[in-house]
Amino acid sequence: RIAYVNGAYLPMDTAFIHIEDRANQFADAVYEVVTVYNGRFIDMDAHIDRLERSLNELHIQMPMARSAMMVVLAETARKNRATNAILYIQVSRGIVKRDHAFPVAARPCLTVTCRRFDFAAVKARAEKGIKTITTPDIRWGRCDIKSTSLLPNVLAKQAAKEQGAAEAIMLDEAGNITEGSSTNVWMVTKDGVLVTRSIDDNILPGITRAAVMTIARDFQIKIEERAFSLAEAQNAAEMFLTSSTNCAMPIIMVDTKKIGDGKPGSTTKRIVDAYWSMMEKA
Ligand code: PLP
Repeated sequence: RIAYVNGAYLPMDTAFIHIEDRANQFADAVYEVVTVYNGRFIDMDAHIDRLERSLNELHIQMPMARSAMMVVLAETARKNRATNAILYIQVSRGIVKRDHAFPVAARPCLTVTCRRFDFAAVKARAEKGIKTITTPDIRWGRCDIKSTSLLPNVLAKQAAKEQGAAEAIMLDEAGNITEGSSTNVWMVTKDGVLVTRSIDDNILPGITRAAVMTIARDFQIKIEERAFSLAEAQNAAEMFLTSSTNCAMPIIMVDTKKIGDGKPGSTTKRIVDAYWSMMEKA
């Protein structure tokens, strides 16, 4: 495996970031995860748009022109012979003597890694659907920024794993679902309305979320972007989650409550299939 680190393509085991990279000391960095399916990037432009937005919000410069970054990403994928893979892209504020305030002179650091990814396993999992747990959302107030500060997400995912579940759904203080530890969460009401939380500071605006919105509009499914409670979700007809690496994934259980009849719902299945065909055509 080959990684890109600040201008150089290096074998993974010699690819390091500097000890005073602000990503290391402050999580002063943002990232993106982009999938490569059948040799094609999925929604790359949208991911780079979101990367630019995250950087803007934190007043970090783009490390290079967007067109140059595209070359680096394509080259990293090529060097890794990425057919079915995920690219991890990280930009930190830079390498500089440790001090909380923004350094004047630091240049942003770009690192890119690539690893193989088993989409067939994801597809297989989607046939059955997944179990989830819930946990309080203890994150900060700017979850719209895709920052590498992920400890609450790490703890949430670990809790899910320890309870034999695939994802942890996070709840705000009002008992409403914000999102999963690395996914956006959806329900289909008994009236067939597709509901997902509206975009604000409390959730990451998922690229897969946006793609599923488009699919649902094409299907003329009624969409509501609004907060919804755990109780409402558990009594919904169907639930699923979305992320670049999960695609659209049916949820069949939340804590001890089965969703619907405990099998992936019919609207969910249509969306899952449509997302996969979108990937096939990418
Ligand atoms: N929400 C969080 C907290 C995430 O970390 C992610 C992705 O990793 C998502 C949602 C889904 O985003 P996307 O569909 O862009 O992968």
